[in-house]
Amino acid sequence: MKVFSQLDERRNWGEDERILLDQVRRVAEEVIAPNAARYDAEEVFPQDSVAALRELGLNAIFVPESYGGAPMSYRLYLAVVQAISEACASTGIIYATNFHGMKPLIDFGNEEQKQRLLPRVARGALASLAITESAAGSDATAMKTRFTPDGDDVVVDGSKLFITSGDVADLLLVFGKWSEIGDARGAITALLVEKGTPGFEVSGIEKKLGHRASSTAGLSFSGARVPRANVLGAPGQGLALLLASLNRSRPSVAAHALGIATAAFKDMTAYMNTRAVSGRRVIDFQGNQFLLADLAAELAMAEAWLDHVAALVDGGAADFGIEASIAKLRASDLAMRMTTEAVQMHGGYGYIRDLRVERLMRDAKITQIWEGTNQVHRQLIGRSFIGK
Ligand SMILES: Cc1cc2nc3c(=O)[nH]c(=O)nc-3n(C[C@H](O)[C@H](O)[C@H](O)COP(=O)(O)OP(=O)(O)OC[C@H]3O[C@@H](n4cnc5c(N)ncnc54)[C@H](O)[C@@H]3O)c2cc1C
Repeated sequence: MKVFSQLDERRNWGEDERILLDQVRRVAEEVIAPNAARYDAEEVFPQDSVAALRELGLNAIFVPESYGGAPMSYRLYLAVVQAISEACASTGIIYATNFHGMKPLIDFGNEEQKQRLLPRVARGALASLAITESAAGSDATAMKTRFTPDGDDVVVDGSKLFITSGDVADLLLVFGKWSEIGDARGAITALLVEKGTPGFEVSGIEKKLGHRASSTAGLSFSGARVPRANVLGAPGQGLALLLASLNRSRPSVAAHALGIATAAFKDMTAYMNTRAVSGRRVIDFQGNQFLLADLAAELAMAEAWLDHVAALVDGGAADFGIEASIAKLRASDLAMRMTTEAVQMHGGYGYIRDLRVERLMRDAKITQIWEGTNQVHRQLIGRSFIGK
């Protein structure tokens, strides 16, 4: 594992960053990882794990100081997501979703909204990002949820599907279309909705292949009244805001996928070094060493690329959408391949629920689907090379 520890050492974390990362890794190892299999099997929200993150004040690392936060670099945020996800992919995505849902408020909210809502986020409020609908997944512009202005309120009607933490979130960033704007793309608007708003209900919780401890909810809005003061940006600015936000959340889901891939790589190499077949360890077969070489090389490259994207973000780059897509695409494809091979290297034991690799393989699949399917990312990356 020297290759990877050296990569981490060369990140030259500052003193505060190193202390926090050590704390996160300790909590991941002592609290989150030991509970992960139980929460997965019982399909329940990982309360203890999320409470442990709240105790560390982890939401505060992406909230500005003036609103109760203790901000650190985006690079550190990604490392935190990766460490948590290595221990429990469900807990990792719950934490990352707080960032995905609330970063747009930090970047595009007005002063009043930030003063009112961000201190709660910094203290550990759970957040959701609600874009997807039954007929609007890859093409988010097909969404039908309607925002109708009425005096000081906005009336929300419609439904959302597959919303991570949708049932538990204290604050949800919901996308819909402003009724007074006719243009399908130009009408998209973002609205902050609080838990418990009358007319807003959870319509169901999905049963899933993986990420079973993270809840995935259907949401319904029927005449739900939300103060107009909760519109993020202006009516019709939603699409621009959404695209800018996805550029930040895609590296974050890449970090999450790399956490899963790292866990699988560790389990696989440990097992291959101990399991004997025909008097030799599984790792002694050269064909298996070639497999490990390919996977290790891919993991190292994906980590280095994520560092590159983080440096762009921390350096204030304005345009890093394609770099973010590349990170998401490669990290998620790697997570799927790594976990599948990890199961394979465990032989029949890999298929049994007692071992973590079985869960990792189930958890990996969604990383190729959410935050833009990998087909969509291939399209975005490929299209960027078309000459003007
Ligand atoms: C567990 C889970 C958690 C989720 N969490 C959230 C969340 O928190 N918030 C949220 O808003 N959404 C969330 N989603 C939704 C997720 O982002 C969507 O499922 C995803 O964007 C794909 O949309 P879709 O399911 O409608 O698939 P579709 O868009 O119907 O795609 C079907 C197939 O067509 C392919 N396809 C689509 N467009 C193209 C194209 N241009 N070229 C080639 N192929 C194409 C896709 O790649 C896919 O293979 C979550 C989903 C799941 C399962």
